[in-house]
Parts: sequence; structure tokens; C-alpha cells
Amino acid sequence: MRTDYQIIIAGGGLAGGCLAIALKQAGLNIAVIEALSREQRANSGAGDRALALAVGTVKMLARLGIWQGVEAKATTIKKIHISDQGHFGKTRLSAEREGVKALGFVISARDIETHVSQLLDQYEIEQICPARVVGLASDSHLAHMSIKKGEKPQNLSAQLIIGADGGQSSVRKLLEINQQNVEYGQTAIVTTVKPEKSHQNIAYERFTSSGPLALLPMAHAFSVVWTRTHEQADSLLDLSETDFVEQLHDCFGYRLGKFSLLASRHSFPLTLVRAERMIDDRVVMIGNAVHQLHPVAGQGFNLGLRDVVQLAEMIIEQHQSGNDVGDVSVLNNYAKARQEDHDRVVTFTNSVVRIFSNEWLSVAAARNMGLTLLDQLPFAKTQVARYAMGLSGRMPRFGK
Ligand SMILES: Cc1cc2nc3c(=O)[nH]c(=O)nc-3n(C[C@H](O)[C@H](O)[C@H](O)COP(=O)(O)OP(=O)(O)OC[C@H]3O[C@@H](n4cnc5c(N)ncnc54)[C@H](O)[C@@H]3O)c2cc1C
Repeated sequence: MRTDYQIIIAGGGLAGGCLAIALKQAGLNIAVIEALSREQRANSGAGDRALALAVGTVKMLARLGIWQGVEAKATTIKKIHISDQGHFGKTRLSAEREGVKALGFVISARDIETHVSQLLDQYEIEQICPARVVGLASDSHLAHMSIKKGEKPQNLSAQLIIGADGGQSSVRKLLEINQQNVEYGQTAIVTTVKPEKSHQNIAYERFTSSGPLALLPMAHAFSVVWTRTHEQADSLLDLSETDFVEQLHDCFGYRLGKFSLLASRHSFPLTLVRAERMIDDRVVMIGNAVHQLHPVAGQGFNLGLRDVVQLAEMIIEQHQSGNDVGDVSVLNNYAKARQEDHDRVVTFTNSVVRIFSNEWLSVAAARNMGLTLLDQLPFAKTQVARYAMGLSGRMPRFGK
């Protein structure tokens, strides 16, 4: 029986790309199938979103040999300021107080995606693109994938297929895996503003009744992730630049002087998508294909990279002991190992969206009390800071 590759990864985004790099370094024969051309990816508005990365994530990326190439483009978060518009509650977290250099890092998605794509070339990883996955099947020895490159259909086989094809995953749909969808009724507007005063490496999270506003420090500017109801987001997108900035000040205030708008505005409708299972015969899914989250707590890629590291570790161990990398035991062990982290992060993110978008008097009062109390309790603050830093995840047993 003809095997084209040991592993085929559907999707060459952050999760698929990082996994390909980890597996190739261990000598596996892999291919990545990516739906978009390089030009489409390089010019996509989605690349303008900034990613807040936990310290644990950055350590993992460094172990994979990825962070070293983008470190100079990242900005350190030294403080996090959490507040609630129209209420007294606030909490401040500080790297200095926790005795660490950084609470996290901010980098544009485009910078890290471009670098991952360059590493795929450097490691001579076979990339079939632009091509879409259109069919999947498996037998006791192999998994089979049909792809469409232009009008040309092609059939490929491997010991294992990995679905890293994002929130609209074709792999998930082709396997008819049920998914949980939560419509938040919210859209995130992403843009960049320059404040008059220095941001001093402080990240701001401001909760409002219609959704949170995050200002993430980058070089001399802030990346803005502003969540509003769909209708409010549409109106904000229609506003002139001057009126948009004015609305932003109405929400954030003038503590850093006047903002100037540096980039165009992009919108991302927000839905929680969670697959009911992450494995099938000789197929496993990772990243947004399994869990697409609300960006409020900046957890999406941080969680996806923990999928990458866990799966890479199990596949590499199996490969090094000369066994079938698509064996059902590997997939079952992987799913078991990842379930708790997925449950925890999905529940946490959902709770933050619900609690902080709620104006019922009792909820608003409890939330403000919570933020104020948290600000007074050094131990609780340390726990929150450790969560933000992502220090609970363990380091991979492979890499540099
Ligand atoms: C506004 C916003 C802010 C965010 N902020 C943060 C943050 O601060 N911190 C954080 O950790 N995360 C954040 N995230 C989440 C983060 O961007 C995602 O978790 C991450 O990009 C998911 O990576 P992925 O590779 O799983 O999926 P994707 O990035 O969606 O990649 C999937 C890839 O698969 C390809 N593909 C799709 N269908 C097919 C097919 N049929 N065949 C072949 N290829 C296919 C796509 O073209 C794409 O390249 C944010 C997201 C948004 C929208």
C-alpha cells in the first residue's frame, strides 16, 4: 500500500505551522495542505490582530526554535490594568511585584505567521498550497485525504492526518463531528492607535456593558481589540476616523492623552465553536479546529500551542520507538491529556464574557467587589498573574 507521508497536516496557520516545525525537527516525513496562497495570507486583514502571549507560550515557542526569530518584534507587558467602565472596581497586576521580567508579550499575528511560514520553507517542509481538503477516509493501516488544488483533485495517504484548519474546519465537518456553538452577539474591532503619552508597557482591559476593550502595548502604539454588539460595531466601522477615536476616548478616557489612529479597522464576529471530540480513526484535530474562543482573555493561541506541544511530544515518542504514529492508543492518550485544559479555558473565557458583559445590579456589584478585593489580596493577585503568564503548562520534552 502506498504511503505518501507519515503525517499530513491540514491548515498551515499558527497551530499547523508550529506543529509541522516540531515534527520535522524530529525527522518525520510530513506535508502541510493550506487553502490560502502566500499572497492571500500576507495581505489578509486578519493578520493585523495582535496576540497577547503568555510567558509559558513564549518559552514553548523558544524551545521549538520559533521565538528567536520574532523576539525583536514583540513588546513586553510589564503591568496589566483591569477596570470596569462606570464602576469603581479595578485590579492592577505588575511584573515587578511578582518578581518577573514580564507578565506576557504582544506581537502582531502577521509577524509570527510570516516567520512560521519562512521556517516551513527553511526546514524544507512540503507545502501544498493553495489547496483545500475536500475528502477524508481511513482503513486499518492508513488515512486518506482528497484535496483540490485549483480544479485538480489529488489523493494522498498518511499514517495520521491532523486537522489544524481553524474555526471553520473542513476536517471537523467531513468527519461529521458535532460542535457546540455559542453566539455572543458581539463583534471585535481591531485597529492600532498611538497615544500621546508613553504606554509604559501597560496592557489595559476595560470591561463595559456591551463588551470589553483591550489595549495591548506594541512598540510606540496600542493594538486595540474592542468588542461591541454587532450593531454598535457596524456603526463604529462606518464612523469617520475622528469620530471613531472620539468614541474610543469615551470608553477609555484621556489618561494617556489623545489617540491617533494608525491603521484601518477590521472586524471579527465572535462565536465560541467547540468540537464535541478531537479524534477519529487516524485523525486528530488541534487549535481553533477544536476550540475557537472569544478573544477577551487572549487564550486562543496560548491554548492551541499547548495542543501542539502535547501532540508533538506523543508522536515523536511513538516515532522514535518505531511504532505507527497514527495508532489509536496515541490518539486516545492525546485526547485524554488535553480534555481538562480545554474544559478549564473554555469555562474561564465564557465566564469572563458573561460576568463582565452583565449590567444586572447584583452581578455588577459582585464583579466590582471582586476586582477591588483582588486588588487588595497579594496572594490572589499572584494566582491571577500566574494564570495570565501561563506558567501552569509544562515544557515540551523535545526541542532546543
Ligand atoms: C480579534 C482576535 C484577537 C485574538 N487575540 C488573541 C490573543 O491575544 N492571544 C491568543 O493566544 N489568541 C488570540 N486570538 C486567537 C488566535 O488568533 C487563534 O487562536 C489562532 O490564530 C488559531 O490558530 P489555528 O492555526 O488553530 O487556526 P487559523 O489561524 O484559523 O489557521 C487555520 C489555517 O487553515 C487553513 N484552512 C482552512 N480551511 C482549510 C481547508 N479546507 N484546507 C486546507 N487549509 C485550510 C486556513 O487558511 C488557515 O491558514 C485572537 C483572535 C482574534 C480573532
